[in-house]
Amino acid sequence: MSDITSANIKFPWKISSRAELMNPSVIRELLKLTERPGVISFAGGLPSPDTFPTAIFKEACNKVLLDQPHEALQYSASEGYQPLREMIADYLPWNVDSSQVLITNGSQQGLDLVSKVLIDKNSKILVESPTYLGALMAFIPMQPKFESMLCNNEGFDLEDLKNKALDARFMYLVPNFQNPTGNTLTETIRQNLCQLSVDIGLPIIEDNPYGDLWFDQPPPPTLTNRNPEGCIYLGSFSKVLSPGLRLGYMVVPKSIFPKMLQAKQAADLHSSSFSQRVIYEVIRNGFLDTHIPNIRALYKSQRDVMLNALANNFPKAGSHEDEVSWNVPSGGMFLWMRLPKKMRAVDLLPRAMASGVAFVPGESFFTEYADQRSIRLSFVSVSADKIREGIKNLASVITAERN
Ligand code: PMP
Repeated sequence: MSDITSANIKFPWKISSRAELMNPSVIRELLKLTERPGVISFAGGLPSPDTFPTAIFKEACNKVLLDQPHEALQYSASEGYQPLREMIADYLPWNVDSSQVLITNGSQQGLDLVSKVLIDKNSKILVESPTYLGALMAFIPMQPKFESMLCNNEGFDLEDLKNKALDARFMYLVPNFQNPTGNTLTETIRQNLCQLSVDIGLPIIEDNPYGDLWFDQPPPPTLTNRNPEGCIYLGSFSKVLSPGLRLGYMVVPKSIFPKMLQAKQAADLHSSSFSQRVIYEVIRNGFLDTHIPNIRALYKSQRDVMLNALANNFPKAGSHEDEVSWNVPSGGMFLWMRLPKKMRAVDLLPRAMASGVAFVPGESFFTEYADQRSIRLSFVSVSADKIREGIKNLASVITAERN
């Protein structure tokens, strides 16, 4: 009798052309290295675990299992748990009908559904430069053509944008405390983008996982707020409660909702019945109103520690091209730094790692014209002391490289 488990049998698995285009996330691969003990990592994009309300979650889990054990453990509606959809519709500051809310497995799934429903091979997609790597990973298998939205002193170059936008499928934006740069679009830029969108009928995908994490004042109103028919809005519980539960949502114009729902059904039938009820229990009595200000305060103090450490270690920063420079994010989790002229972030990284500090080279976040001097630093998941030590090490490595 032949042995069907024989290791000698070679199966000719044929990978689809779509799968050929998938690549391991540069950042996830990098994180494996940066998570080595002893390395102070500014590379991760993880929220601080100190912000996870574990006791509240424990109570909510118990309550859900006591009150609705069968519903929580059963299959459920693809649209999502209706009370949660209603609460999200009420929470958002524009007129949202709960029938437009689709619960997803994090906003990352929202990006994947957008990709499947809206992109054909060679569809033109407008993206910021740089942009969120996870969005590129979701879009690339559908083989779009990316066009970068170029900037001038006033923000996006509107003439360039108008030309590019005419035959584009959509523009994808992270308007608040962007990943990777930490930048926020100004009121004028938002107005201009919405005007352009309305004038030529160009849809916008607005990805807003960080909007609640402002430090001194809230960012200007969202694009969807002004142009709800022209926008798909992606929200997430990852940065305000827990990324591990994998819950987010999309607000979808009614005309396109049925297609998004079909894509969601094909992907996973529905998001976890249990997690949705737990999140609902956690937030239904206004918990976020007290919790989010605590996250803001923590992240703001962490940002300030990093800014002070940078200022102390790079006293001549920003004075000329041979010096480093950085932005001052007004919320979120990331700071964007530029290395001195002629220095490449990917070359610096191994030397930085050897001295016990890690960052993400910015070039992975670009679709074209990559800025090789840029690096992304997260300031939220390393303690204040370690931020000071890590920036000091980074400064030594940069100084050694320059000399
Ligand atoms: N969009 C952006 C801009 C992000 O930074 C992230 C998380 N890193 C996501 C979407 C995905 O978040 P989640 O799926 O956890 O909601």
